[in-house]
Amino acid sequence: MSEVYTFGVKSGQHSAMIDITREVQNVVKDSGVKNGICVIFVPHTTAGITLNENTDQDVIRDFIMEVNKIIPLSDGYHHVEGNSAAHIKSNILGTSQTLIIDEGRLLLGTWQGIFFTDFDGPRIRKVHVKVIEG
Ligand code: ZN
Repeated sequence: MSEVYTFGVKSGQHSAMIDITREVQNVVKDSGVKNGICVIFVPHTTAGITLNENTDQDVIRDFIMEVNKIIPLSDGYHHVEGNSAAHIKSNILGTSQTLIIDEGRLLLGTWQGIFFTDFDGPRIRKVHVKVIEG
């Protein structure tokens, strides 16, 4: 129950938002914890974790479209690796989420899902999940 569970996420595109709600819910279920806290953490500097609607895929499509306008791929950045936009997007979205576990399930709104966000793909990434009873 106290261990960290890790799973992989494969992003097929440069900018991607991948619904990982089911994977995280399965970690919670396997932990046996009925009430507590679930921490989801991404150990990357060009990826992030966020919540958003997971019913209409156009919500995600619109988000990626707009975020790429706000933080363009090239804008005279100094970082020599060439992926500054991805680092900035990672900072804005953040690399962790903390969710409440209620009656063995993640306490999410009707329309909410958990999204792994990649802005420097395609790559194989990691997601860590820690479940704490309490
Ligand atoms: Zn970099």
